Amino acid sequence: MTTTDEAPAAGTVLHGAGVGRGAAVGPVVRVRPAPAVAGDAPVVRDGAPVAAADLPDAVAAAFADVAAALRDQAGRAEGTVAEVLGATAMMADDPALRDQVLTAVRGGEPPVAAVDAAVGAFAAVFEQAGGYLAERVTDLRSVRDRVVARLAGLPAPGVPELREPSVVVARDLAPADTAALDLARVLALVTEEGGPTGHTAIIAGQNGIPCVVRATGATALAEGTDVAVDAAAGTVTVAPDAAQRAALAARAEAARALEADTDPGATADGHPVALLANIGTAEDAERLAGAAVEGVGLFRTEVLFLGRQQAPTVDEQATAYARVLRALGPDRKVVVRTLDAGADKPLAFANLHPEENPALGVRGYRLVRSAPELLADQLTALARAGAETGTEPWVMAPMVATPAEARAFAAAVREAGLRTAGVMVEVPAAALRAGAVLDEVDFVSLGTNDLAQYTMAADRLRGELVDLLDAWQPAVLDLVAATARAGAGRPVGVCGESASDPLMALVLTGLGVTSLSMSPAALPAVRFALRRHTLEQCRGMAEAALAVADPAAARAAVAGLLEPEVRAALAV
Ligand code: PEP
Ligand code: MG
Repeated sequence: MTTTDEAPAAGTVLHGAGVGRGAAVGPVVRVRPAPAVAGDAPVVRDGAPVAAADLPDAVAAAFADVAAALRDQAGRAEGTVAEVLGATAMMADDPALRDQVLTAVRGGEPPVAAVDAAVGAFAAVFEQAGGYLAERVTDLRSVRDRVVARLAGLPAPGVPELREPSVVVARDLAPADTAALDLARVLALVTEEGGPTGHTAIIAGQNGIPCVVRATGATALAEGTDVAVDAAAGTVTVAPDAAQRAALAARAEAARALEADTDPGATADGHPVALLANIGTAEDAERLAGAAVEGVGLFRTEVLFLGRQQAPTVDEQATAYARVLRALGPDRKVVVRTLDAGADKPLAFANLHPEENPALGVRGYRLVRSAPELLADQLTALARAGAETGTEPWVMAPMVATPAEARAFAAAVREAGLRTAGVMVEVPAAALRAGAVLDEVDFVSLGTNDLAQYTMAADRLRGELVDLLDAWQPAVLDLVAATARAGAGRPVGVCGESASDPLMALVLTGLGVTSLSMSPAALPAVRFALRRHTLEQCRGMAEAALAVADPAAARAAVAGLLEPEVRAALAV
């Protein structure tokens, strides 16, 4: 679909993909778009045009200034925001990009055109590579816009200062834009582009901000117009009427009320289902210190490795892991996933050769074939952190396909002096042979994001395939059911996004899943749904979901079996 420039009329409902379950109403603030500067525009410094001989210096200074400003912002930010800002600063600092521009400028090309051309060439390579790199194209373009604005003597593009609680609307938000946001004044985020695994979605999820991405028509919303953002429904309503506002306010209030229950996860009849958090950094873990979370079900360690030219040392890793273990304390389990590099998370030092199909290539645990020292060092660091803190982590490998891989991983874990080894089930082969996989390890954790991608042969980063990537697809549910059945009393968790959907959480419980790990903001609604249905009801819902032919019918079948109180509170 295309966008129109005409502002949508009151009552218009824009549709996109919701992130989280929150809702908010507030005035639109639009993110300042990229500067419209012609390729041959003059370079300006202190209000005066720069002489031709000084242009290379001015260009180098513009890159350096932009990198410094981004680093500065990174220094003031925390956690993932700081990490992604640092990565964007590194892009602005990248000598390959800068030198390509400088060579062109020394050859007589106008600076703005040279920046455009070099960024265009890099973006094409990133897009070709797909996955994580393709998602970084937004950051690359943000570097270009900032450098061009700097060269033209214009203010930096991005988010204006928020004077009141607002709904921030953008084509897409680069981490640099997001970091400039005063999150205390952000009621909701809406983007026309981006995907559910992009930066905007990650940052919104981490901060519990209602968010709708891929909202067609959002960039035409007029500044100051009130909109109602409903992440659970994936909708943005223009100038909502009083009834719509009241309904959303009631929903938001009901969501807040759910946070009061801090008991461990269990069904109404006391069947325990551990409710765990997904984290990416030590800061994420520290935020969980006083939270009603039974532990960490997925620590994505690759965040520590991203944007590096070399792997962090064993010492550096041990320090970071110890921080996480300490933050959770001795009584809460922490499941650490070993490095999941490749495909959507490529690392310079691990993924040395470009692959035609990186999602099907040497990624995740398979890296042990080409870079075994990465796993060995990580396990050494984890064992050291465990010894230092007195809390031993559970350790699991991503992208395991065969029982033999599971056996080899478990042996490596034990050799490092760690006792609890598991693997993720995110490849259909592992789900189909889950019993044999489980015979080799102590636990498994279903990664439904990748399991859906590989079951449905649909790239998880392609927003337009979101219908195929739905974890409610019966084929995906069949594989989850097969894995849970194979568990036969052994721990089978779910740590993909599907665990954060309260209805799916009930189905997963009915299928026999023993723990659910999700972004912490999603936890209260899942806990609430779980505590109001018995295990028998959950089993009935699982049966109903498996009995139908398509995802919408599966969800509807489960919705029809919900206790009325839950249906009302979750606005199903
Ligand atoms: C998954 O694939 O479901 C998962 C949890 O891992 P990631 O999203 O990090 O690939
Ligand atoms: Mg995965």
